[in-house]
This record gives sequence, C-alpha cells and structure tokens, in this order.
Amino acid sequence: NPAGDVHEIGNVKLVKHPMPQDSEVKQVFIGLGSNLDNPATQRQKAIQTLETTEKLSLVKTSSLYKTAPVGPPGQSDYINAVVEIHTSMQPLELLSRLQSIENQQGRVRQQHWGARTLDLDILLYQGQQICEPDLVVPHPRLAERNFVLIPLLEITEDSLEIPGMGQLGKLLHQCQDNPIEKLAI
Ligand code: AMP
Repeated sequence: NPAGDVHEIGNVKLVKHPMPQDSEVKQVFIGLGSNLDNPATQRQKAIQTLETTEKLSLVKTSSLYKTAPVGPPGQSDYINAVVEIHTSMQPLELLSRLQSIENQQGRVRQQHWGARTLDLDILLYQGQQICEPDLVVPHPRLAERNFVLIPLLEITEDSLEIPGMGQLGKLLHQCQDNPIEKLAI
C-alpha cells in the first residue's frame, strides 16, 4: 500500500505512514547578494546556475533590490534578491553546493576582472533550526536586514513563521535597517 501499512484492530483501521525519507524535497529560501555594477546579469547567471543544479528546483524569484552602500564613496550599490527552491539536498550538502556556485560564478568578466561578490546564504530550510559550526539557520542576521526581509515577503506572506524569531511581517515592522529600492528589471 503506497499510502502506508494498514493494520486492522476490530473495526479500527490504523494506517502506519512511512517515515519521511532523507531524499524528501525540502522548501528552502536562499538570499542572493552582489555588489557588482551589472546586477541584472549577475542575478541571471546565479539563477541559471541554480536552475541547472541537480537535486534542486527553482520555485520563485523575487525582484531585485538595491541598497546604497554605507561608508566611503566609490563603492557599487549592493543588489539583493531572495529565491525559493525545492531541494532534496541535506543542509550541509546544500551549503557546500552554494559555496561552489559562489566560487564559480563569483568572478565575472567585465571590462576587467571585477570584484568577487556573489553571496548565497541559506535563509530558511524547511522551518528547521540548525546550529552547526559552519551553518546557522535561520540566518542569524535575517531579522536585521531589510534586503532579506522585503524580498522574502514579496515571494511569501506576512504570516511566514521564522523559527525562533517570529512572523515575517512583525520582524519587518521592527526592523531598523536602511530603506531599500526595488529595481524595475
Ligand atoms: P560570508 O562570507 O558572509 O558569505 O559567510 C560565509 C560563511 O558563513 C561560510 O563559511 C558558512 O559556513 C557560514 N554560514 C553560517 N551560516 C550560514 C548560512 N545560513 N548560509 C550561508 N553561510 C552560512
């Protein structure tokens, strides 16, 4: 029986559902960040790579948002987006896959070799709290960053529960971060 083993005790049917398998698909949100001055290309490249990554499917992509850099002048704007994926990868396997995408895609040829800045963060992994030496989920600075909260809200909803932190809408309301600008690209 594909739905699980059925045991009958008198008139009562007990259905024993199979334990979730490790290969089961998980819902994950990933933050993309870059401070290269061709953000549309950079985002497109990262998304194409994610789309062709095994054991991973892209579900939703937010708009691109621009954050003005703070500090000394002359730095490029930061651009950010959030994507929802489905993956059968376990958290640490996913982290290492994202790190190799950062390494492959992080350097893009423009007029000259530009700065290496493609940052991929695991924001949320299937409502789980993970605390490993190399991986903390939900991402610890998630609630402090408008450039994470706002694109996340765009592709989810106010009531999304961030494990250990509260509802997304409330976090956004409390966030003291600088405003960000939605880009029309
Ligand atoms: P950064 O230079 O800010 O991209 O930080 C990269 C480091 O953060 C990596 O060595 C990861 O092991 C670690 N890390 C911890 N939690 C996370 C997370 N949720 N997503 C991505 N990297 C993480």
